Amino acid sequence: SGTARKERAPMHGSSDERTRTGMSPESLKRAFVDSMFYVQARYWEVATPHDLYMAAAYTVRDRMLERWIRTAETYRKADARTVCYLSAEYLLGPQLGNNLINLGIVDSARQGARDLGIDLQEILDQEPEPGLGNGGLGRLAACYLDSLATLSIPAIGYGIRYEHGIFDQKIVDGWQVEDCDLWLTNGNPWEIPRPLLRYPVRFGGHTEPYTDEHGRFRVRWVPELDLYGMAYDTPVLGFGNDNTNLLRLWHATAGRSFDLQAFHKGDYYGAVNAKVGAENITKVLYPNDEPEVGKELRLKQQYFFVSCSLQDMVRVHLQHAPNLEGFHERFAAQLNDTHPSIAVAELMRLCLDEHGMDWERAWEITRRTFAYTNHTLLPEALETWPVELFGRLLPRHLEIIYEINARFLDELRMRYPFDPERVARMSLIEEGPVRRVRMAHLATVGSFAVNGVAAIHSELVKSTVLRDFHELWPEKFHNITNGVTPRRFIQLSNPDLCGIITDLAGPGWARDAENLRTLEPHADDAAFQQRWQAMKRAAKERLAARIREATGAVVDPQSLFDIQVKRIHEYKRQHLNLLHIVALYHRIKQGTDSDPTPRTFVFGGKAAPGYFMAKLIIKLIHSVAEVINRDPEVNQRLRVVFVPNFNVKNAECIYPAADLSEQISTAGKEASGTGNMKFSMNGALTIGTLDGANVEIRDAVGHENFFLFGLTVAEVERTLAEGYRPWEYYRSHDELREVIDLLRSGLFSHGDPDLFRPLTDSLLQHDPYLLLADYPAYVEAQARAGDAFRDPAGWTRMSILNAARTGFFSSDRAIREYCRNIWQVEPMPVSLAAGNGSVP
Ligand code: PLP
Repeated sequence: SGTARKERAPMHGSSDERTRTGMSPESLKRAFVDSMFYVQARYWEVATPHDLYMAAAYTVRDRMLERWIRTAETYRKADARTVCYLSAEYLLGPQLGNNLINLGIVDSARQGARDLGIDLQEILDQEPEPGLGNGGLGRLAACYLDSLATLSIPAIGYGIRYEHGIFDQKIVDGWQVEDCDLWLTNGNPWEIPRPLLRYPVRFGGHTEPYTDEHGRFRVRWVPELDLYGMAYDTPVLGFGNDNTNLLRLWHATAGRSFDLQAFHKGDYYGAVNAKVGAENITKVLYPNDEPEVGKELRLKQQYFFVSCSLQDMVRVHLQHAPNLEGFHERFAAQLNDTHPSIAVAELMRLCLDEHGMDWERAWEITRRTFAYTNHTLLPEALETWPVELFGRLLPRHLEIIYEINARFLDELRMRYPFDPERVARMSLIEEGPVRRVRMAHLATVGSFAVNGVAAIHSELVKSTVLRDFHELWPEKFHNITNGVTPRRFIQLSNPDLCGIITDLAGPGWARDAENLRTLEPHADDAAFQQRWQAMKRAAKERLAARIREATGAVVDPQSLFDIQVKRIHEYKRQHLNLLHIVALYHRIKQGTDSDPTPRTFVFGGKAAPGYFMAKLIIKLIHSVAEVINRDPEVNQRLRVVFVPNFNVKNAECIYPAADLSEQISTAGKEASGTGNMKFSMNGALTIGTLDGANVEIRDAVGHENFFLFGLTVAEVERTLAEGYRPWEYYRSHDELREVIDLLRSGLFSHGDPDLFRPLTDSLLQHDPYLLLADYPAYVEAQARAGDAFRDPAGWTRMSILNAARTGFFSSDRAIREYCRNIWQVEPMPVSLAAGNGSVP
């Protein structure tokens, strides 16, 4: 029987296996040479840098497998409650360096490489980045996977294996040009394809009522198209423990039965086209950061990965249970924004149509399975789908959503009998010329918990977009402030800072970021300050070298590195930063400058390909840079650079090098931000508004160690309500007027006064993000920062205190809160040492 087989089976991790997969420099070296031979099929003299990388990656992956398999076994035996993180994006970043850290073998690997005459860094640099996300939301999912494994929480990340992730950004003549991302072209050593783990996913067609064998009314979905989702698994190591969790990404392939049908009908080319069409579903990530994209393929992607994931969860559940009862006790499924919120209807469908459950029971299980994280308040980013499109692709799901809605609205009418407007506001369907499904409402109604991602954002969720729902279910609403992993964003990115903390707090400090506090008593110590300055200096030199390599620009590591890297968006206000830069330029040219602090302004970030204003901002950054960097009267004091292709790899080099972190969004627009946390942890001071997690960062690091400026959320609302007239700021503020006039003069556009017209017109006529209203306060805060930088001891003290006090922003803290307040899940530590009788 299966059991007998299991008992006799030799365990991996036997003593032979341990010799083979040992962690010493010696065994790493031997395994590396073996991988070069047996996996890459290469001999030394002809091995390319890519071969070296692949051999290293397979060597490291081999060392992850025992942990991974033992983890799966432990969770399964314990029948553990499991978190399923459903996210359309995972911005993982390079894997090799992070896996070396989490395995604790960086030094052995470096030593082993050196013995073979190889520079480990050169190998690391070979790795293409899996950029399966746009920015903050996708990177958050990646940090959360790292923390889940580190905290020994049974968890699976489910998502989409995009063949092409976020586009590569090239700059041509100052303009962004998008290039296709080819991360899979040379193979991905970290994933294990599971060709047999496939689920059918259907689209289109119609539904039919029928009566089942018990005489009950049922509905059958007769789809028009079916395809398969195939699993690709990637292990996710914990740090400082043996838990290794699973990231399972779905790849679309044409269904075989479908092929056969079409082929049999003699329609060979039709069948081939259908196959290509099916495989398109996971071809490419939609590159929009915020605004909703009403694209049919995107809805298909969402349904595709959600359906595969839920079917997979159902399969696992049925290994332990006779039916879907108790599904919500086995799984807590987190919806990372509304992208996977179709899951509410899909789980209902699985319960009702595939497992014969009645509505009430199915609804109970569904509502107790999901929790929803809201990531945005921007009206243009709230996902809605036209009912027509929805019904065409997913006719059965639309029926289910209508039924959920009908029952929900009945409840609301009973509760608010004299408030039909409220009932209409809360409906899952937006009425109008084009009726639309409101995905945030579906997610809220179908979940047991809803959370925002920073304290201020969670309050705004309750008072604005989901206000009616909060009044109905106040206990459903939570705040969980985002976090970032200190493993990748300190230990990997900033080895010198890691060394400093390790000396104070001992190795393994990164398991508890509150260890950063050990820095605090040394903030005024002169010798310690020197070491801190040397750390910062080295990081700035690394970035300077990267900038030179990428752009040819030479920057001075002595100058204040003033950095804004994030997606380009009007609400993030890169152009406010530019107004300040042009003001400094103007002052130098006029001889009225009173801030002699030399500065290097660093920008980076991608613009959505269809977002004209964002692309124009990139062009303006380059145009201002060109004028300033070329002018000998100015360029000793100011430099402006744009680092192309901001991604995780570049981010790891940029965050540690910052003196000043620009977090200058219009108050109320940035849900949380996570870049702000990464900068601060690495000892940058923030210049920022009271927006997103800036508010909590400022409270944590101390108000005196943060350059605050700008309107508050209430003031923004009041300003707009009173009829904001940006023109008046322009008229009454001399320097602001001169700066905008310079932009309109053609000085930065080779004499063409029209190039930046759309930007300046928008500022003068509407300025929806209140740049002009915030300009005077911003420039004043910048002057304070410039002054402060001229006192190295004072600045260094503030820098140390920033790093020391940001332990709260570790993703471990955030995940602990999710576990305790939302998921109700407990750690399940895995032990490699635990022989369970089957080890020979
Ligand atoms: N893009 C990348 C590559 C990142 O690493 C981050 C980091 O958090 C972001 C975008 C988000 O940046 P922010 O929170 O500053 O918008």
